[in-house]
Amino acid sequence: MKKSLLLSVVLLACSTFFADAEEGMYPISEIGRLNLKAKGLEIDPSDIYDPNKISLIDGICRVNGCTGSFVSPNGLIITNHHCAYRAIQSASSPDKDYLKDGFQAKTQTAEIPAKGYTVRITESYRDVSKDVLSVVKPTMSSADRTKAISKRRKELEQAAEAKNPGKRAEVAEMFTGKTYVLFLYTYIRDVRLVFAPPSSVGNFGGDVDNWEWPRHTGDFSLMRAYVAPDGSTATYAKENVPYKPKRHIKVSSRGVDEEDFVFLLGYPGRTSRHKTAAFLEYEKNVRLPYIVDLYQWQIREMEATGANNRAVALKHSSRSRSLANVEKRSRGQLKGLARKQLVEARMAQEAKLQKFIESDSDRKQKYGSLLDDIAGVYAEMAQAAPYENDVANLVNACRSLNFAFTIYDAAVERQRPDIDRESRYMDRNIDQTVRRMMLAQRDLHVPTDKRMLHGMLKRLANHKEEIKNVAFLKQLNSDAFAVDQVIDRLFNNSKMHDEDAVKKFLQMTPKQLAASDDAMIKIVVQLYPEYKRLREKNKEREGKLGQLYGSLIEVKAEFMRTDFVPDANATLRMTFGRVRRYSPEDGVIKTPITTLKGVIDKTTGKEPFVTPQKILDMYAKKDFGKFTHPKTGQVPVAILYSTDTTGGNSGSPILNAKGELVGVNFDRAFEATINDFAWNKDYSRSIGVDIRYVLWITGKVYGANHLLKEMGVE
Ligand code: ASP
Repeated sequence: MKKSLLLSVVLLACSTFFADAEEGMYPISEIGRLNLKAKGLEIDPSDIYDPNKISLIDGICRVNGCTGSFVSPNGLIITNHHCAYRAIQSASSPDKDYLKDGFQAKTQTAEIPAKGYTVRITESYRDVSKDVLSVVKPTMSSADRTKAISKRRKELEQAAEAKNPGKRAEVAEMFTGKTYVLFLYTYIRDVRLVFAPPSSVGNFGGDVDNWEWPRHTGDFSLMRAYVAPDGSTATYAKENVPYKPKRHIKVSSRGVDEEDFVFLLGYPGRTSRHKTAAFLEYEKNVRLPYIVDLYQWQIREMEATGANNRAVALKHSSRSRSLANVEKRSRGQLKGLARKQLVEARMAQEAKLQKFIESDSDRKQKYGSLLDDIAGVYAEMAQAAPYENDVANLVNACRSLNFAFTIYDAAVERQRPDIDRESRYMDRNIDQTVRRMMLAQRDLHVPTDKRMLHGMLKRLANHKEEIKNVAFLKQLNSDAFAVDQVIDRLFNNSKMHDEDAVKKFLQMTPKQLAASDDAMIKIVVQLYPEYKRLREKNKEREGKLGQLYGSLIEVKAEFMRTDFVPDANATLRMTFGRVRRYSPEDGVIKTPITTLKGVIDKTTGKEPFVTPQKILDMYAKKDFGKFTHPKTGQVPVAILYSTDTTGGNSGSPILNAKGELVGVNFDRAFEATINDFAWNKDYSRSIGVDIRYVLWITGKVYGANHLLKEMGVE
């Protein structure tokens, strides 16, 4: 892996040391600088990452939006149950209900293709900031700036992929509007499901316990990566062979104890720690409340239609679970924003920054209006949000409209040169886009979809002014608009529920689509100009904010004279901390290791607190084998630790001081949901499943001892 200029990116702020560094999702280029030995690491930091040799990071992969680690020389991956959920769901039916009963492949041939899944392994990275920003001209409009940057990023990606056949390239924005790094990934497209515990283990506690501590969820699964017999990346084929990772992570069945040093490697998705108070206000007053309200409603609709029908509930399960996850996280963030007064705290920091800016006339000239300008963009967004959010979610909530939209949008975009297309429709991405859509299409349930459309139209009818000139939507202003009849007519005259028809539509030109008699497509054609207008508007905002945030980083670096790391952006990061208790509120202390006894105590026999009989029996017999926690005499279930994580860290290996896998990260405590905006050593706690529970469940309870053996655990 090539050394890069990333260091200078991170250390823009002419800093000397990283302070008390439990905060921080460090880019791997920084690992050598963190003084990890003094913090508790027992191996050499170069064993975690060294550009010139194989190291731990070669055993880490990205599994769709999650993280995983290779735990055998034969491509076996450990990740979360919730990360493999979609794969388990698509393989399930009411009579082969792997979600309910769990799944175990006794041999490799019995492993099930995880449709729509990909695995990536970071191979190299290179700073390309100069190159990307060289295309920006001072005279450009904000929207043109966004487009120029995006085009240059795509060109660099294409060039890197052409030079490295079979690899996947991605230019990641590290500091908004300022720094860009090109990552090269090995890209695996044949992924299979190997083992999943029943949901009563993998999702024990369900949404009630999600984002909470204490926790008793066995949130893990095993998958396997496959490649063509010659080692090249290939889509599913029977003759494919298990991928041989350069390195796999050693599993330690000894586990951990309170105050032990741990670290995580993974692909954290997105944080917003370098954003302003105006952004936080926007989140607090506009976006998060909207999400909570919208998702609660959608979940209710799915619950209603799936209530007495397992086949329907299965169709909804993945979607409703991910909505519930984000809904609850958003509530946690709202609570945290209010309780910790984060907006006020950031305002106070910005007041100091403003003073610093104004203390020098050149600086004032350059940055004087910066914070106000950023606030101006968010104010404009806040004002437009009620209508724009509803329009955006119209083609999201209603899946049929979503498919019709994707079909038409793809057809329109295909008319343009590849490089100018929206990224998801470029030649290098279209297969994946279509695959995902077809997977969602299989889960379409028309009665639910009708309710979704009904609800969104009702919301849109409130925006009388905005919809006045929007084709199709303007009818909502008329008293004669008979919503139920219109919806029935739409669904009766559309083929979005028919897989073959959808595939045919995907081949058509915009003209052919416009001439088709599919009612959903017809509506999309009418609505399309409005979506194009909003897309352009978003590019303009993105361009403005990109430029402004780029300047903010510059002046903050001058001001703070201390270090900061880039926000999470789904690139490989390292974070470290300790297995540690915390006090979420006055008078309450929560200890960091839960046990099987807690599972039994919580079990009511009613969802989501049902426990398989086998586990109850083994618990009664204290049949724990060597997976007992010496201090409690119990099987440990989950652990809590002070690392810095966010979504995307799901599935990250929890590694001990020796770099051995002792658990799998899957969540954060409720208070830690505001990690995404501000980390704090008092409340930021991540949650993982203890490896001893994983091994006990897999081997002792479900008898998959061949997998333990494969992981080197005898
Ligand atoms: N469970 C989380 C998720 O939604 C992980 C996290 O955000 O910490 O991905």
